[in-house]
Amino acid sequence: MAFNTFYNEILTDHNMHPGNKHKIEDPTYELEGVNPSCGDDIVLQLKVSDDDTIEDAAFVGDGCAISQASADMMCDLIKGQKKEEALRLGDIFLRMIKGEASQEEIDELDEAGCLVDISHMPARVKCAVLGWHTLDEIFKKNS
Ligand code: ZN
Repeated sequence: MAFNTFYNEILTDHNMHPGNKHKIEDPTYELEGVNPSCGDDIVLQLKVSDDDTIEDAAFVGDGCAISQASADMMCDLIKGQKKEEALRLGDIFLRMIKGEASQEEIDELDEAGCLVDISHMPARVKCAVLGWHTLDEIFKKNS
């Protein structure tokens, strides 16, 4: 597989130092996300204020490098954002993985944009979207 260097570096970095892989004390929402086809299993936790600002986001669990790095990048991206903005970014990510997002949109995803090549690796798509789907479900369940 032809991974570019940028992709590799970011992926490795998020796996070696997953800054958001820990438990949140007293989370507002918590939901498990499972990808049986790979064995990825995470629990996403969010702390959300009364005005729908995501004050903290973190996850625990196990899985392959892509699932863990993607969840870690997502937490970085959505922290401090409003719920609507997080969902909008999540939508861009999911469309990016399907190969449907514009370059301008992908740039908004910051580091998570480096996962754009996953769209060419169907077997890894479920790994990459696991955290993002879980985020989506949390807000759907609690809206
Ligand atoms: Zn996986």
